[in-house]
Amino acid sequence: MSTPSQEDYLEAIWVLTNEKGYARVTDLAERLNISPASASKMVRRLHESGLLTYERYRGFSFTPRGRKTGRLLYARHQILERFLTHLAIGTPEDIHRIVEGIEHHFDVNRVGQIERLVTYIDEHPEWWDVFRRKGSS
Ligand code: ZN
Repeated sequence: MSTPSQEDYLEAIWVLTNEKGYARVTDLAERLNISPASASKMVRRLHESGLLTYERYRGFSFTPRGRKTGRLLYARHQILERFLTHLAIGTPEDIHRIVEGIEHHFDVNRVGQIERLVTYIDEHPEWWDVFRRKGSS
């Protein structure tokens, strides 16, 4: 991954804090494949922006606003992964990498249409099969 954006941090923090309620700089650095110093710098910045609360010795967690943002960013990632998985354009690793690249261009409030399509596909697998067979012949 190239330099993670603020959105990547928030998405990763959502995943980490969802497991334990809080996260540590070392966990975040490991997850994003960056140095603890870079992770620490961004944690301070997100704290100053009112998205994280920092508890000494305990690590950090989201403020309500941060949690909402993190949840939306994570959901956006999942919707795009489901969509590309249905299109079968690569391995799960490929798809993850592609989504990491494109997700920032989708406004979190505008992936609803893609989510509707993905949900429709899930609910009508026979419809999707017909579409896919047409595409490959
Ligand atoms: Zn992502």
